Amino acid sequence: MRRDRIRKLIAEELDAFQQRTPRSLQLCRRAVNASMPLGVPTGVCALDPYPVAIREGRGSHVIDADGNDYVDYHNGFGTTVFGHAHPLITDAIRRQAARGTHFGALTEPVISWAEHLCDRYQLDWVRFSPSGTEATMDAIRIARAHTGRVRVAKIEGGYHGSHEVALQSPNLPLDGTEGPDDAPATRPNGEGLSPRLAEEVVALPFNDLDAAARALGGGDVACVLVEPILMNVGTIWPQPGYLQGLRELCDIHGSVLIFDETKTGATIAWGGAEELFGVRPHMKTLGKGIGGGLPAAALGDTDGRMFELIESWRVPHLGTFNGNPATAAAGLVALTEVLTPDAYDRLEAHRQRLTRELNRIIADYELPAYVIGAGAKGCVVWADPSQGRLVNFRDYRRRFDFDAAYLTWLWLMNRGVFLAPGQDEQWTHSIAHTDTDADRFAGAFAELARALRA
Ligand code: PMP
Repeated sequence: MRRDRIRKLIAEELDAFQQRTPRSLQLCRRAVNASMPLGVPTGVCALDPYPVAIREGRGSHVIDADGNDYVDYHNGFGTTVFGHAHPLITDAIRRQAARGTHFGALTEPVISWAEHLCDRYQLDWVRFSPSGTEATMDAIRIARAHTGRVRVAKIEGGYHGSHEVALQSPNLPLDGTEGPDDAPATRPNGEGLSPRLAEEVVALPFNDLDAAARALGGGDVACVLVEPILMNVGTIWPQPGYLQGLRELCDIHGSVLIFDETKTGATIAWGGAEELFGVRPHMKTLGKGIGGGLPAAALGDTDGRMFELIESWRVPHLGTFNGNPATAAAGLVALTEVLTPDAYDRLEAHRQRLTRELNRIIADYELPAYVIGAGAKGCVVWADPSQGRLVNFRDYRRRFDFDAAYLTWLWLMNRGVFLAPGQDEQWTHSIAHTDTDADRFAGAFAELARALRA
């Protein structure tokens, strides 16, 4: 595709974006001037030219501060798979709020929520936290205590939250410091991180069992932390046998396999990655949608032995808001009454319909892109599939067309399709999404294809 054409369209769309969203700009300026760096509550909401402020959401739609209506394919970074303001979930929150939102004590809702999660995700034990960051942090600590080892293997380009280990070798530009493809250097994301982490963390190329075997062969790796589908670099599927191979390598070398299902757990299948791929890790982390739209994450033992460390207090697992009753009540209703097994058939059907439409447009206009996903998640990957699909982070960095992805985001936002900010994200739809919603997405994408080929 012609670079000058993409750049010209970006400039035009930036103009249109600013015309449509003056109130968002005003709010962002107020936030910058009065309270928050970059005008956002968290860095993940920041993207040029400025964040769109949302006023409210209902079902599959959100309304921004200027009153523009969008079909929401962002869904709170993949959280609101049940749609916005679902009456059953709203009721559950209201009922719990009327009784009190927080006690710092055992409550019945959290027990029911825990029982359901154990059943659904095949967990032997479960504990809670308010964020995926804490869940992966605690999982690593348990793995270290269980093995008596310090080193952590994680996938290069993978995102697991914002604690110190997780901020090693996430999605960073290739700038000459990245090391060889089959033995990536461990690189920190930003400043303020201990330099010792470069020794404590080993970055693995996704879909490369030889590299994993070399890293684990030294016998000093506590755990392998992996997203079953790599989702913070567009979307990259595991190759057949990869996840099973990781499990076998971990068993051979005495390491703990952790599936970070913060994104995949409540989206790709009713039972998450274990249902989809049939591979069982030693621990799982869950997050996002499991709390019905309130801050939630869970850490599950799938080995039966990991949480002995918590029971014996060798690893304290702590947190004021862990298992908050309002979150538990919302999560329980969301999972048991809304995200039922047949909901996943509907989510998959919506994804297939949208994928079919987008693929047809990509083929008609010979765009260097393909569509990939699972369940409630899909992604337009701006890389030429004739060279094969992306298999790991290096592939993504070298072949992905970041300008085209940014233009797609702007273009769709300007035509009422709300998407997560950033080129690295994928879409998430909900059970409230209709064929008309998918048609709006596909229709806007078809216009973009025409503009690109004009
Ligand atoms: N793990 C994965 C795979 C994630 O995608 C994220 C957040 N997007 C996290 C962990 C961190 O979760 P949280 O933002 O709730 O801390």
